Amino acid sequence: MTPDHSPHASPTVPEPVRYRRTSWSRDPYALGSYSYLAPHRLGTSVRARLAAPVGARLHFAGEATSSEAPATTAGALSSGRRAAEEVLRTGRRGQSVTVVGAGFAGLGCARALADAGMAVTVLEARDRVGGRAWTEWAEDMPVDLGASWIHGHKGNPVTQLLKATGGRRIEFDYDSVAGADPAGYRELEEYVEGMDEHPRADTTPISALLPENPSPALRYAANTVYAQEYAAEPHELAISADEEGVGGRGGDLLLPDGYAGLVAHLRGDLRVRTGAVVTAVEHSDGGTVAHLAGGESVPADHCVVTLPIGLLKAGAVEFRPSLPETKREAIDALGSGLLDKLWLWFPHVFWPADVDVLEWSDPRDPGLWSWWLNGYKAFGRPVLLGFNGGDHARSLAGESDEAVVASAMDALRRMHA
Ligand SMILES: Cc1cc2nc3c(=O)[nH]c(=O)nc-3n(C[C@H](O)[C@H](O)[C@H](O)COP(=O)(O)OP(=O)(O)OC[C@H]3O[C@@H](n4cnc5c(N)ncnc54)[C@H](O)[C@@H]3O)c2cc1C
Repeated sequence: MTPDHSPHASPTVPEPVRYRRTSWSRDPYALGSYSYLAPHRLGTSVRARLAAPVGARLHFAGEATSSEAPATTAGALSSGRRAAEEVLRTGRRGQSVTVVGAGFAGLGCARALADAGMAVTVLEARDRVGGRAWTEWAEDMPVDLGASWIHGHKGNPVTQLLKATGGRRIEFDYDSVAGADPAGYRELEEYVEGMDEHPRADTTPISALLPENPSPALRYAANTVYAQEYAAEPHELAISADEEGVGGRGGDLLLPDGYAGLVAHLRGDLRVRTGAVVTAVEHSDGGTVAHLAGGESVPADHCVVTLPIGLLKAGAVEFRPSLPETKREAIDALGSGLLDKLWLWFPHVFWPADVDVLEWSDPRDPGLWSWWLNGYKAFGRPVLLGFNGGDHARSLAGESDEAVVASAMDALRRMHA
């Protein structure tokens, strides 16, 4: 990157020395970040409908199928184990099972099936395992491009994995924040108070609780609470989205050693066929056949599909015969949200070094670059991790890397002016 010598460059905010940007909507094997509950008459039961098997041979797992912890690694892992139990209830030891996808759901499922003596083949389109849990390494530190936290660490199966790996943990404190605008949160609280008792929470969007022309402070607060959390805007989210899941106990853990060790531990000695792009799944009472790009067919007694909601919605994999109407309705009803990250490395720390979070309400566009993780506190390096969700993430997704970094730098300069 070329340094910015423009007259507007702030003397206190240096140019980044490195960046790493995600673009989950453009990732062909994710097509979005994670699922969200959109207003629909099915309400939260949509997840159980997505999870239900089709016949005795075709099974579904993945974060979007989890009613307890949707949109998380914990939900994905539990869903994979739940699908494995389903297979084991109807199948016999030694039968063959194809698992499509090697994320938390697929690995959790395959691990349980292999441990129970089934002959498991895991088909993974990418050249790596982990799916939306994806750690790269840069500047001697783990850079998580998908999941970062363990949400609600008590009684959480992912915390068990962390313990097994001996990985470090940081109890993240969302209230340890610089730059937040409490007035915005107070205003939001007034509008959404009592929303958990709303009589039509499944079919009413959260935006119905908010004024038509929200103040800048309210837009910023709603962005942090909804777009950054659920990867969707208040008008896209059902009121019941806010109450979904059983709610993890305990706070959130950030992993200074990254998610990679947990993925490796979950995988263990499982063999995974990477570069295996499934294009179609045939299913009947007699068994299943997964068809791969390139023409190969993989027959099995059972198939567990862990495709992300974005791919299911796009019809990226053909089902033969096509999925029943109830399943298709569930796929249509659930939303596929977008949350993107930008990691920025600097020559030195220029922000408050002792807080967990930096917040900012951009007076020009409240919600844009409004939430940053202080990587110095978490990783001991001069690094910031910025997030955008919903509309802001979607509009930045169409921009070049240079434009995204320039937009973030413009925000950081105005934040610290
Ligand atoms: C930016 C971001 C931040 C997040 N932050 C957190 C967080 O802090 N904490 C948290 O708990 N969760 C977080 N999540 C959500 C979490 O990452 C997911 O819920 C979880 O990893 C999903 O696991 P999965 O197995 O259901 O799906 P995936 O991990 O997506 O696994 C599905 C697999 O299927 C493969 N696949 C796709 N198409 C095909 C095909 N045609 N043939 C074969 N294989 C295919 C994919 O490559 C992928 O490996 C975040 C996600 C994102 C994107």
